[in-house]
Amino acid sequence: MAKIETPRPVRGTQDMIGDSADRFAHVVETFEKVRKLYGFRRIEVPVFEQTAVFSRSLGETTDVVSKEMYSFEDRGGDSLTLRPEFTAGIARAYITEGWQQYAPLKVATHGPLFRYERPQKGRYRQFHQIDAEIIGAAEPLADAELLIFADQLLKELGISEGVTLTLNTLGDAASRDAWREALVAHFEGHKASLSEDSLTRLEKNPMRILDSKDPRDQAVVADAPDIDAYLTEEAQAFFEKVTDGLKAAGVAWTRNARLVRGLDYYRHTAFEFVTDRLGAQGTVLGGGRYDGLIETLGGPATPAVGWAAGIERLGMLLTSFPSEQDFVAVIPDGNLIEYKIVQIANRLRSFGIAARVDFRGNTKRRIEKATKDGAALLLFVRDEDDERGTYNFKSLVRDRLPDQDLADRVRVVLES
Ligand code: ATP
Ligand code: MG
Repeated sequence: MAKIETPRPVRGTQDMIGDSADRFAHVVETFEKVRKLYGFRRIEVPVFEQTAVFSRSLGETTDVVSKEMYSFEDRGGDSLTLRPEFTAGIARAYITEGWQQYAPLKVATHGPLFRYERPQKGRYRQFHQIDAEIIGAAEPLADAELLIFADQLLKELGISEGVTLTLNTLGDAASRDAWREALVAHFEGHKASLSEDSLTRLEKNPMRILDSKDPRDQAVVADAPDIDAYLTEEAQAFFEKVTDGLKAAGVAWTRNARLVRGLDYYRHTAFEFVTDRLGAQGTVLGGGRYDGLIETLGGPATPAVGWAAGIERLGMLLTSFPSEQDFVAVIPDGNLIEYKIVQIANRLRSFGIAARVDFRGNTKRRIEKATKDGAALLLFVRDEDDERGTYNFKSLVRDRLPDQDLADRVRVVLES
């Protein structure tokens, strides 16, 4: 018979087990805990949308729309796109599901996203984000709340050391337009030193040059005018209120007056939490205010602000994370009828104690296996039911984790 070839995994996708899966789960669990502390409601939105949801809101000239989207025609002839980010889909849902009734709406979600990028460490074609948004709030306090939330999350994950909040304002429309003009003048004067991509950006979307990762653009970007000279009084006042909020909560930040975000829809606040611990993939969390987005999708004028962070990148930064819960291995001692270990394990679990049984092997083999798997406690069960239907247990053997507390809890359950 011809050998059957196993299909390769798709480039830029990952399979996770062990460490990487535990890191992933810990990021999500911590996010779930913290978002509840801040009163963000959990939402779910589809993994794919009409292509227009992303192309219109992100902007046709953004990298994501122009070269990173997984778009395809479905069997009905509709152009669909696997979501490259959360915000546009959430904004679409806000309009089509009538979520305006909840405004100001604080929501959070997590899940997979898809971008056709060059895969490398910390950069994948299917990756995952946690995401938090406040929709329908124009107040700078909303921006501050989101940043304080992000800051606390990083602290709870134990990775705030070496991760810096860099903050900027893109101002209101007037500030942004004036700054844009100054940037165009600057880049026009340095055309010869710009990368081809940035020359295209200069035609279509000059502010995006500031976001370029091409080393050839770095010098010209470093000399570019920053936004400060062009900020209107209102824009400046808004920014001050955001930073006052951060100060009140003791959140540290630094200013990056040339920070722009990769997408078209940002206004006022823009921020990134950056680190040098991940090589070239230095941004772990990014976001800002996107007051114009919902209108570009045909909704009412709606101020909003949000952020997203890569779960894999956060996971890579973790220095400690819980793996499995401490568990009891239930082992038959001698000729025990096997279902009895299932029965006992089940009883322990119903009292919230993690218990495992093996499916095969003699007592010795099972001890070896349980020890190798990291059991906190080995529970040996003999075939000696007494009249009250309780089980005798020969001994509780303490393994490497001296967990007397767990042993006591097991004893209580077995003797009750
Ligand atoms: P980058 O500058 O690294 O390309 P970005 O600005 O495109 O990031 P956002 O769209 O702001 O990223 O997404 C927010 C976060 O999602 C990033 O800070 C990062 O942690 C994560 N992220 C983005 N793209 C990827 C990817 N291809 N693989 C893994 N994580 C990613
Ligand atoms: Mg990117």
